Amino acid sequence: MRSAPSYDNADLRRLDVAHHLPPQQDWALQESSGGSRIIVRGEGSTIWDAEGNEILDAMAGLWCTQIGYGRRELADIAHEQMVQLPFYNSFFRTAAPPTIALAARIADLLGGSLSHVFFNNSGSEAVDTLVRTARYYWQAKGEPQRSVIIGRKNGYHGSTIGGVSMGGMVSMHNQGGPWVPDHEHVMQPYSFEEQREDEDEDAFSARAAQAIENKLIEVGPERVAMIFGEPVQGAGGVIIPPRGYWKRVEEIARKYGVLLGCDEVICGYGRIGEWFGFQHFDIQPDLVSMAKGLSSGYLPISATAMADHVVETIRAAHAPFVHGYTYSGHPTAAAVALANIDIIEREGLVMRTKSDTGPYLAQALQTLSDHPLVGEVRSIGLLGAIEITSEKGTSQRFGAKPGLAGALIRDACIERGLMLRAVKDTLVMSPPLIITHEEIDRIMLIARDALDACE
Ligand code: PLP
Repeated sequence: MRSAPSYDNADLRRLDVAHHLPPQQDWALQESSGGSRIIVRGEGSTIWDAEGNEILDAMAGLWCTQIGYGRRELADIAHEQMVQLPFYNSFFRTAAPPTIALAARIADLLGGSLSHVFFNNSGSEAVDTLVRTARYYWQAKGEPQRSVIIGRKNGYHGSTIGGVSMGGMVSMHNQGGPWVPDHEHVMQPYSFEEQREDEDEDAFSARAAQAIENKLIEVGPERVAMIFGEPVQGAGGVIIPPRGYWKRVEEIARKYGVLLGCDEVICGYGRIGEWFGFQHFDIQPDLVSMAKGLSSGYLPISATAMADHVVETIRAAHAPFVHGYTYSGHPTAAAVALANIDIIEREGLVMRTKSDTGPYLAQALQTLSDHPLVGEVRSIGLLGAIEITSEKGTSQRFGAKPGLAGALIRDACIERGLMLRAVKDTLVMSPPLIITHEEIDRIMLIARDALDACE
């Protein structure tokens, strides 16, 4: 067997500065930082860089590696599939066995009427597919004026033109527009920053959901195609909605007869203790996007699931939906995703997140809540957040540059061997679903040490 090529670390970092443009980063900082940290290996929940530093990966890559790193079983499946049929597309009325088997498996996990699955490569593409489908559905139904999609501020739905338009991040909207019209964004259910002193959880929940109904009425219900959101906003800072929020949003969607879409790119595949986030909140979306945990990031693959009534409407139009990617349903990626789901099932990782590691993370996070820099800790399943505040007991941030404190603490964590992410002044974490109690304890020890160092 061919072995992996070996590289010289210093040379790689020089080439990185000269040629490699990293995603979601300030390219001006590349040179001064001497190039990217080179990550060479992963095993379980740990990664190693080229200098031999061991880092506990509390981000699961980028909210992806549910089953952890180094699973030879997935490499073996990819190898077998590549030797047999590495790639063939699903155009021309063809499909490969793993592609069909994966669609059926996903439909089974979703349950209810979400029994149809379209494949893409990334979360952004899954969202693009979902948005096109929602609008095409209304066109097929003879209501083409229903093009408006209502999402939430700070929602993240990807980096393609469609994903950015659908997302509610101003920092992204400020770069590279103009964007696709007919996307509206309302307040996020972010209690730490937005809940008023005179509101309890229920009142805040009702106000946040009401913002959606108000926008719907303002736009004109007859123009609205869909309400769309992440069950728990991830990249926006692990925004866990208040009690009753999603049930109320679902009621609003049904009241006005608009579609309900869930972006499960982060929440899907066990992250919050059910296979999908919508199952936790007990709602029934019409369209669902998913990626990341679908293959634990071992190969790029994503999917858009559709309810029976959506597909029946489109089928009744008797016109081909001119939409698809060369790699839609890539057989090797599909085979790997199936093996990944097998592992999640076999090792009971969804139930473990719900009843063991998720509650343990919640408890462990509480141990940080007495720290002077910590304004709030929160978690759901294996998604966690630590809010950094300049004034204990408030949501006040350090003045001069929002996000600076978060970035300093994140860097201090990484130096100490813990990979966390900072969303402005919110530290977020999303460890692999195989994380152990000992590793969760280590996350907290390192985070406290980093907080102390930055105090
Ligand atoms: N949707 C959500 C909820 C996400 O969190 C992400 C990525 O983090 C995306 C969509 C985009 O996925 P990708 O980066 O694979 O395009």
